[in-house]
Amino acid sequence: MGDAPLPLTSSEVSRYSRQLLLPPPFGGPAALRRLLSSHLLVVGAGGLASPLLLYLAAAGVGAGEGSVTLVDGDRVDASNLHRQIAHTQAGADATPKQLKVDSAKERMRALNPAVRVATIAEDLTPGNAAGLVGNFLAGVPPEAACAVVDCSDNPRTRYLLSDITALPLPRPLPLVSAACVGTDSLVTVYNYRTPTHTGPCYRCVYPSPPPDNGCNSCSDAGVLGPVVGLAGTRQALETVKVLLGLDPAEHGVLSGTVAVFDACYGVGRDVRVRGEGGDYRKKTCQVCGENPTIRTPEESAAVCAGYVGPTPPDDGSASSAPPSGEEVTAAAAADMLGRAVLLDVREANQFEMFHVEGAINMPLSSLEAELDKGGELGAEGEAGKLVLVMCRRGVASGKAVQILRGRGWSNAWSVKGGMREWANSVGGVPWY
Ligand SMILES: [Zn+2]
Repeated sequence: MGDAPLPLTSSEVSRYSRQLLLPPPFGGPAALRRLLSSHLLVVGAGGLASPLLLYLAAAGVGAGEGSVTLVDGDRVDASNLHRQIAHTQAGADATPKQLKVDSAKERMRALNPAVRVATIAEDLTPGNAAGLVGNFLAGVPPEAACAVVDCSDNPRTRYLLSDITALPLPRPLPLVSAACVGTDSLVTVYNYRTPTHTGPCYRCVYPSPPPDNGCNSCSDAGVLGPVVGLAGTRQALETVKVLLGLDPAEHGVLSGTVAVFDACYGVGRDVRVRGEGGDYRKKTCQVCGENPTIRTPEESAAVCAGYVGPTPPDDGSASSAPPSGEEVTAAAAADMLGRAVLLDVREANQFEMFHVEGAINMPLSSLEAELDKGGELGAEGEAGKLVLVMCRRGVASGKAVQILRGRGWSNAWSVKGGMREWANSVGGVPWY
């Protein structure tokens, strides 16, 4: 903020007057000019991004010489609107459904027509992550501030973004991160550098995803809209601080600190990461430690390829579906219903929301314990009994079939694509 700022136009002074009137470091023309000139890469245009993009557009981020680049391959869907409030029912009703990046861009520019928005209608993957970040950085002038904001909902994207921004780059690139499950949220900043502060990367704090990390996405676990809204709004605030280059010790930038909020009890707490002399990196970190094992974007891509990525497309073609020798289509399963046992392995709360008439509920998480008890399925491997196993997307049911077949139910089959495919091709059940 040392350089003399370009003069503001009268419409800029008028639009941002309440922000300009604040004392430094947030107020004054130099801070505003810095935000107007900032370049931001936002990955994910869903629930976290909804308030974040609107607040940042309103605050002038990318509304001068700067820009905001949105990355998301998904489309607006009615089942997401309870938390993704930047999108509209019209976007979900359009044919084809509106891309989330286009919908978000429209709303941002409706709020502040000066904001410059670039859109990339792709999900971030191990194959394109380094290229996307590299292209973004190539467009940032040396004097402009820049940051990446992770508004995704899956472990693979979080690790990819953290690894790439922790590895040596032409310039430091801080990462503003958030995650929500159920009524809990986390917000923090990774890879943040100031003259007196060196922040941790994601792997310094969480070296690898928890086992079976697919169960932690809000797509499966459910989430309360305002909890996502609070986290996204906090992310917007941290993004402003990071773009202004503020110091964590002086202005509470969430670097070296994870802000945890438990909405169920209304309790927030800041968890501090251990650091020495302003350096919060962990010596044993695989990326930014003393003996790194992830040294290039390619090595990160190879490690992250095994993590759970974005929610599969709505056609039910889950990438981790079981081999076809263990699956039947929803249409075939519907024909077999009269002579089969239908086992629904979703959690009980989802079963209560809706289930196919006559189905037995044994959640995958307790399936083996239920089988040990002898439960409703009867004796193990009972002479050729036909068992159709159903879940929401056809992934958990595939795991359940492997368990059942391992215990002698050789005639157990997973319904391909689960409830979603059933809703599409058979009907009579809600798509959710
Ligand atoms: Zn690290």
